[in-house]
Amino acid sequence: MKKWMEMKKLVISMATLALMGIMACSSDKKSDDASFKWQVDQFADLKILRYQVPDFDSLSLDQKKLVYYLSQAALSGRDIIWDQNYKYNLAVRRALDAIYAGYTGDRNDADFGKFMVYIKRVWFSNGIHHHYSNEKFLPGFSKEYFAELVKGTPDKFFPKELGTKDEMQTMLVPIIFDPNVARYRLNQRKGVDMVTSSAVNFYEGVTQKEAEAFYAKMVNPKDTQPISIGLNSKLVKEDGKLVEKVWKVGGMYSPAIEKIVYWLGKAKEVAENEKQKETIQYLIDYYESGNLKMFDQYNLTWVSDLASKVDFVNGFIENYGDPLGYKATWEAIVDFKDIEATKRAEIISRNAQWFEDHSPVDAKFKKKEVKGVTAKVITVACLGGDCYPSTPIGINLPNADWIRKDYGSKSVTIENITHAYDMASLGDGFIDEFAYSQEEIELAKKYGAIASNMLTDLHECLGHGSGQLAPGVKGDELKNYGATLEEARADLFALYYIADPKLEELGVLPSFDAAKAEYNQYIRNGIMTQLTRIEPGKNIEEAHMRDRALISEWCFEKGKADNVIEKVVRDGKTYFKINDYNKLRLLFGQLLREVQRIKSTGDYAAGKNLVETYGVPVDPELHNEVLARYKKLNLAPYAGFINPVLTPVEKDGNIVDVKVSYPTDFVKQMMEYDKDYSFLPTFN
Ligand code: ZN
Repeated sequence: MKKWMEMKKLVISMATLALMGIMACSSDKKSDDASFKWQVDQFADLKILRYQVPDFDSLSLDQKKLVYYLSQAALSGRDIIWDQNYKYNLAVRRALDAIYAGYTGDRNDADFGKFMVYIKRVWFSNGIHHHYSNEKFLPGFSKEYFAELVKGTPDKFFPKELGTKDEMQTMLVPIIFDPNVARYRLNQRKGVDMVTSSAVNFYEGVTQKEAEAFYAKMVNPKDTQPISIGLNSKLVKEDGKLVEKVWKVGGMYSPAIEKIVYWLGKAKEVAENEKQKETIQYLIDYYESGNLKMFDQYNLTWVSDLASKVDFVNGFIENYGDPLGYKATWEAIVDFKDIEATKRAEIISRNAQWFEDHSPVDAKFKKKEVKGVTAKVITVACLGGDCYPSTPIGINLPNADWIRKDYGSKSVTIENITHAYDMASLGDGFIDEFAYSQEEIELAKKYGAIASNMLTDLHECLGHGSGQLAPGVKGDELKNYGATLEEARADLFALYYIADPKLEELGVLPSFDAAKAEYNQYIRNGIMTQLTRIEPGKNIEEAHMRDRALISEWCFEKGKADNVIEKVVRDGKTYFKINDYNKLRLLFGQLLREVQRIKSTGDYAAGKNLVETYGVPVDPELHNEVLARYKKLNLAPYAGFINPVLTPVEKDGNIVDVKVSYPTDFVKQMMEYDKDYSFLPTFN
């Protein structure tokens, strides 16, 4: 049963923010913003940014140590996500890293340049598949050149597990060069066996039918506190029988998990309070036992720890990487509370019931009592696993529905990451190209940053937590459309309320103009600019992108009679101009009502119809135009981050301080991580 289709990561994330080209006006601009180099690298469709960790020095020594130990735990699991993404990813990475470190031939020719692009793409994606489209990308150099690279690299650089150079090449050449080998990391296309056609390393020798039957048997409909079945294991067939290989100390991925546990142990010693100590201990117990009951216990404790300033995510958390939605990828974030910005989110949360009561949703699908919607704004100090280098800008956890219902969830927005985006996108020409008018551009400059933060708050703090299922509905009925519809639901809730006078009344949004800025950006992105991330001839696959297309296209069509959104062609360029913001808001409300009904009643057919009609298809003519206009700007649509380096200052064997520095070299960080946090064998 797919329990945690409730979606957590607001992947409005980087990509969109970058696409939005939104600029900060910006009240919280740090003084060194102007001189700080935000973008440090660009290759293929990717750019590498840096983020700052403001106010780190305001933490106490113990808090700094806590952040440091937790960040070591966050980096220690790096190999896990590589192996989860595809079972040969570690082999590829180690071979490429060896070549980078040891190749004695010409490093200045065009081919080596292409090798560098490929290795950086692999690093960025934690494997050979595109981090966003899930499709394998191919090197720009030939097999023959690869053979030359291998030949020109002394043996000692390659790990023994890869065998002789000949054996290694026989294994790696099809993996790297053949487009039909492991083509999709995640394949959820209609009519395919999603398990056998996905390269992700969650199943082996198992068909979709077998996996579904295996887990269907585990579901106990009477259990009101069900564990997240299948979350932390690989399902394999051994001697004709299906067996779970559990990710735990003594199980699969043990060498990395042992390191994580070690650093969590150090963190526990400097925890801020008893509750946090208990939380960390439960997580250690869970890693040691693999027991999913213990994972729930950890989540319960974690979600109720609201007092600690330093916080973290560390574990097998999100299930988007599994075509069936059982298995979770490993991820980690270390953060601390941004006190000022948190006040804004807290105001929203305190009024959660008002928003629930006044939403356009059918009364029977509203929560009578909205519980435990906590919200805070955080500053991240370290990203790891599936959150690195590409990272979310908001998190809403835990995922288990019953915990969310009975104990609430923690919602956070990561402001130092969005700030880095805003800064990096200043003046890159994107909005000038796609906005309809100077007035739109001015609105975006003035209100874009604050409005997008507000939308994130509303989406995370209220959107996902709103609404309830009808009796007898479990929440997994929408299947492969569940994630898209859940994101649409949270987005619509946020879009509907961002234009509500209540926000001005609460003092969290300056004026209706801020909502206008957000509406402009949302529609522009949903209909047009997000298409920059789709290859010609392809449909929209990714859940968040489908969500935004669904909402924008539906409103465009339904508003046609009243000319709510107008398609304007000027000098051969297409623009989408909003003529009536109030009517658009009503359309958002109307669609919210319908999407909530679909979720609450588990109406698969209606959900499928919405997504397939509005969320999936691409208008080829508009697509080509957008790609051509975008290409001229020479921008990278996706961004990821270099982590800051935390360095303990020691005196007489004790840590007396922790310093933050901001490296600028992506390649160097990757090679350092390879050396310092490479704990798993190449084949697991
Ligand atoms: Zn979301």
